[in-house]
Amino acid sequence: MGTRGREIVGQHVDHILKLLNQAYASEWLAYYQYWLGAKLIKGPMKDAVAAELTLHATEELNHAVLVANRIIQLGGTPVLTPAKWADESPCAYDAPADPYVAVLLDQNIAGEQCAISAYKGLMDATKDIDMVTYNMALTILEQEVEHEEDLQSLREDLDLMVKRGSR
Ligand code: FE
Ligand code: FE
Ligand code: MG
Repeated sequence: MGTRGREIVGQHVDHILKLLNQAYASEWLAYYQYWLGAKLIKGPMKDAVAAELTLHATEELNHAVLVANRIIQLGGTPVLTPAKWADESPCAYDAPADPYVAVLLDQNIAGEQCAISAYKGLMDATKDIDMVTYNMALTILEQEVEHEEDLQSLREDLDLMVKRGSR
């Protein structure tokens, strides 16, 4: 923890740490959901979609690194046990129980939409209060927005392909 770095955040630090730990738990769940989905996936375009899911998994893990570092800088402790991830996360873990491409894409699109709302919330809570966290949240938000668009455009391609194939 950096003492002066924590001091400038003032009395908001506990609330910001709470939001950061929620985001941290969500990132690990997102990582695992993507990582396992990429292994189990079945159906049309599965290779292209699996490659994107695998890339997103590594990007979510990198978000977890950024968030953990910021939690530690502020004197907090990242969630210590995986058993707590689902409790802490504001975004649901959607198990890839049905490996069909479209189902996995829809689950992960919902996950990205939740992440976008969560980082928007973190930005609202830190604006003019904690510039370092604000800047980090913006960096991550940019990538979550990209993730959503990547998945939605794959979903669109899949729909077009299935529709045309059935004519
Ligand atoms: Fe993320
Ligand atoms: Fe993402
Ligand atoms: Mg991508």
